[in-house]
Amino acid sequence: MLLGPDELEKAVAILKKNDVLAIPTETVYGLAGNIYSEEAIAKIFELKKRPLNNPLIVHLHKMEQVHEIVAEFPSKAKLLAEQFWPGPLTLVLKKGNNVPDLVTAGKDTVAIRIPDHPVTLALLEKLPFPIAAPSANPFNRISPTSAEHVHGYFQNTLAVLDGGACKKGIESTIIGFEGEEPILYRLGSISKETIEELIGEVRVQNKAKAAPNAPGMLKKHYAPTTKTYLTDNAQEMAYMTEGKKVGLLRFTGRSEDPNYRHIEVLSPSGDLAEATANLYGALHRLDSMKLDMIIAERAPHIGLGVSINDRLERATQ
Ligand code: AMP
Ligand code: MG
Repeated sequence: MLLGPDELEKAVAILKKNDVLAIPTETVYGLAGNIYSEEAIAKIFELKKRPLNNPLIVHLHKMEQVHEIVAEFPSKAKLLAEQFWPGPLTLVLKKGNNVPDLVTAGKDTVAIRIPDHPVTLALLEKLPFPIAAPSANPFNRISPTSAEHVHGYFQNTLAVLDGGACKKGIESTIIGFEGEEPILYRLGSISKETIEELIGEVRVQNKAKAAPNAPGMLKKHYAPTTKTYLTDNAQEMAYMTEGKKVGLLRFTGRSEDPNYRHIEVLSPSGDLAEATANLYGALHRLDSMKLDMIIAERAPHIGLGVSINDRLERATQ
């Protein structure tokens, strides 16, 4: 069932009866439920087939709610929140006693953010509780950046509040803390450079340690079902593609080439933010074309290009 932005009351009713629904955010669509309802949270895990040891992000609509959820708010976390909220930044902080263990997978920390989407902010304002909202895709599949993507995954088993295409297009950047020291858990819609301009150097969680803390860091994640190969230069893969139906995903450049059945150009003008916003939509389209393989070319490895390449690496494991 698709709900228009003018049908907020229906979305409110669904969440108040401890059911779940998909909501738009500026990053990707989320699968939302009342954080205080065991029934709703269990349903999120069940629908996504997400392992119970993967914690969820709690979504708020105003800064004053942070104290309901967390026990400590380090000064650098506060600076980040003031600068980037509402926006695609998730903070992992020591949790308060109210937050159910199911939401945090038993951890003593909780992930929180204020999303920057007018429809979802209006929805949150009407609710007497925060919502948990992981991406609205089955575990390990490509995250949805439109209501249609969500519908494609869950059909009529899930109501979707339609807020249009997601403006940022990949997940939030996640920052945690060891004491006062900031740690980057997951690269996302805000580049490491942009974070560091505000709070100085951040340490990147080393990959071996990353998996238990942030499943977004799992090796295989955000993956198409079509075999996908990653390269710096698609021409170098030519030996593999003869006689095959091949799709090409490239950062910029031409969209015509007889060697490929279909080409997705992420940004004709070579803009990294535009490319990021188009990444998952392009992967969804390529994955629906019954191709023999997808070849993806890396983006320039700076700024948001690092986040794009991170997602492409995981899509091609
Ligand atoms: P998703 O919303 O599906 O993109 O996934 C939420 C991301 O937030 C996952 O990578 C989680 O592991 C991460 N996350 C949520 N809570 C915590 C936490 N307490 N500590 C570290 N990472 C977390
Ligand atoms: Mg996800």
